Amino acid sequence: FTVLALESSADDTCASVVTSSREILSNVVVRQDDMHEMFGGIHPYIAIEAHQRNMPGAVRRALEDAKIKADDVDGIAYTRGPGMGGCLSVGSNAAKTLAAALNKPLVGVHHMQAHALTPMLTAPESDLPQFPFLTLLISGGHTLLLLATSLTSFRILATTTDESVGRTFDKVSRKLDIPWSGMGPGAALEKFCATDHPGIEIPYIDPPLPLAMLGELAFSYSGLHSAVDRYITSRKGIQNLDLPTKLGLARAFQAAAVSQLEEKLALGLKWCQHHTVPIRHVVVSGGVASNTFLRERLKECLYQASPDVPVALLFPPPVLCTDNAAMIAWASMHRFLSGDYDDHSIELRSKWSIEKLTD
Ligand code: ATP
Ligand code: FE
Repeated sequence: FTVLALESSADDTCASVVTSSREILSNVVVRQDDMHEMFGGIHPYIAIEAHQRNMPGAVRRALEDAKIKADDVDGIAYTRGPGMGGCLSVGSNAAKTLAAALNKPLVGVHHMQAHALTPMLTAPESDLPQFPFLTLLISGGHTLLLLATSLTSFRILATTTDESVGRTFDKVSRKLDIPWSGMGPGAALEKFCATDHPGIEIPYIDPPLPLAMLGELAFSYSGLHSAVDRYITSRKGIQNLDLPTKLGLARAFQAAAVSQLEEKLALGLKWCQHHTVPIRHVVVSGGVASNTFLRERLKECLYQASPDVPVALLFPPPVLCTDNAAMIAWASMHRFLSGDYDDHSIELRSKWSIEKLTD
C-alpha cells in the first residue's frame, strides 16, 4: 500500500510517499525558518501564504522523487491537527482535493501520534518498539511524557505547565543573539554550544537555573528561560557578554533543559514500575530530539534508571525528528490497511488531545 502524505501544521511544508513495507520513497520538506527570523517566531499569515505557495511544488516533487504517478498512489493522508488552524487548512484542503479528484481513500492524522510512531518506520526490524513503551515528545509546541499502549492509545503522564522545551530553546537562542540562518534557532544553539575554542577558558556559569517541578510528573520551562534573562540583565545586556561567558551561559542552559527531561524520564519509568507496566522501550521524538548532547545524556540516564532491566532508547534519525510528512504517512498506514477512512467532510482539529485519538 502506497501513501502520499501532506504536512503543514506549523512552518514547514512537507510531502512524502511511503509504502506499507516501510520504504520512504520520497520526503520533501520546504522550510520557512529564514522568513520568520525577523519576527522572532512563526508569523501565522506568512506561514499560511508560504504553505499555499509551496504545497503544490512539494507534492509534485514528492511524486517525482518517488518515481510514481499520482494515480498509482493508494491513499492520501494529511495532518488533521493539532497546529495552527490556517496552516493546517492548506494541507487539509490539498489532501481532500487530491483524494476527491483521484478517487482515493483519505486519512487525517494526529501530528503528535505521528512523531511518537516514527521509530516504527525507521528502527531496524529487530529493534522495533514494543507496546507498552514510554515516549518523550519534545518539540516546538509540546513537551509530553506519554505511555503508549497501542497505535492509538496514549496516556499523558506529564506535560508542560508553561512553555515547551523547544520554544524555550528558540527564545534563549534569540536572547543570546546566536545567528540561525538556514537551520532554526534551537539547532543553532546546539551548534553554538558544541563549538570548540582551543586555548580559551569557558567559565562555568551557575545562574539559578532551577530544576523545576522536582519530583513531580510535570514540566516547566519558563523559570529556566527567566533565569537566563535575569543573568543577561544583571550584566546589562547581551552586548556586554564576551564570547566565553556567552558560551558558558548557553551550555548551562542546555544542560539544565536536558536535566529536567532526564529527571522526568526517570520518574516516568518509576511510575510504570509502580503500576506494573513493563517498559522495554523508550521513544524520544520531536524536533528537540535531534539534539546530539541530549541523545547522549538520555542514554546515560536510562542506564542509571534501569541498570538491571535493559531499556532500549529509540530516536528517529534527526531529519525525521523535526516536522516531515513521512511520519504522517506512516501513522495513517494502519487505518488504510484496515479500511478505516475519513470522509471528505472531516474537519480539522487545531486543538486535539493525543488521549482522544479515536473520539
Ligand atoms: P509540534 O510538533 O509540537 O506541533 P513543531 O512541529 O513546530 O511543534 P518540531 O518541528 O517537531 O516542532 O520541532 C521544532 C522544535 O525543535 C523547535 O522549537 C526547534 O528549536 C527545536 N529543535 C530543532 N533542532 C534542535 C536541536 N538540535 N536542539 C534543540 N532544539 C531543537
Ligand atoms: Fe512537530
